[in-house]
Amino acid sequence: MNIELPESFTQYNGRGVRIVYIEDNILKMKVDVGFKRLMRTIVRQKRGVRCFYCGKILSEGELTVDHIIPQEIGGPTITNNLVPACKECNCEKSNMNAIQYSKYLKRRTSDTKKNYFKEVQIKNEKLKRVKNFSFLNGWVTEMEINQIKGYKEHRYYFCIDNNQKRSTRKKQLKYERAEYFYKEYGRLRKAIIVDRNNRLLSGYTSLKFAKNNCIKKVPVIKLDNVEIFY
Ligand SMILES: [Zn+2]
Repeated sequence: MNIELPESFTQYNGRGVRIVYIEDNILKMKVDVGFKRLMRTIVRQKRGVRCFYCGKILSEGELTVDHIIPQEIGGPTITNNLVPACKECNCEKSNMNAIQYSKYLKRRTSDTKKNYFKEVQIKNEKLKRVKNFSFLNGWVTEMEINQIKGYKEHRYYFCIDNNQKRSTRKKQLKYERAEYFYKEYGRLRKAIIVDRNNRLLSGYTSLKFAKNNCIKKVPVIKLDNVEIFY
């Protein structure tokens, strides 16, 4: 699949070296650039500063990025699934998807709102058990785990990006969450995201969990217009 991209986008590091750019409609990014943060930055630039839900114009401090299909059920951090939102809308929307949230807003009383929210929770519990992520617009395919490249070169190994350096405890918590989800729902919490050459962009923890548990095929979102360079 292709992600939505602006016509142009460039990022430099502190030493003036170009680490992200768009060429021939392909987003090229240096291996140590944080993919999720990059997706958020592009959405802020591409979609502007108006809340997707209430239309309010947002200052830098008010602007958050919302997942249209919530992360909780496996909504990926890619531009196609992200919109700018104010903190209030983002918080109220919680783990509803965008369509459910608009239906929720049409409920007049707090009781009918509460009931609708409960319905969504039941639906979400069911979606967490859908192994092929069919609710993700056909973005997800299955891939042999040994086809995914770049696992050992991933930035967690590099630890170059100081801002994103995570403590061992945080990594451990993430891993435990992946483990819990798999035991409870029988699938990975999120699909693994790879670039056009099957290089790992996001989903390191899921991949590590899959490797440790001899899971041979994993759900993957392959981005045909993204390419890692070294
Ligand atoms: Zn809003």
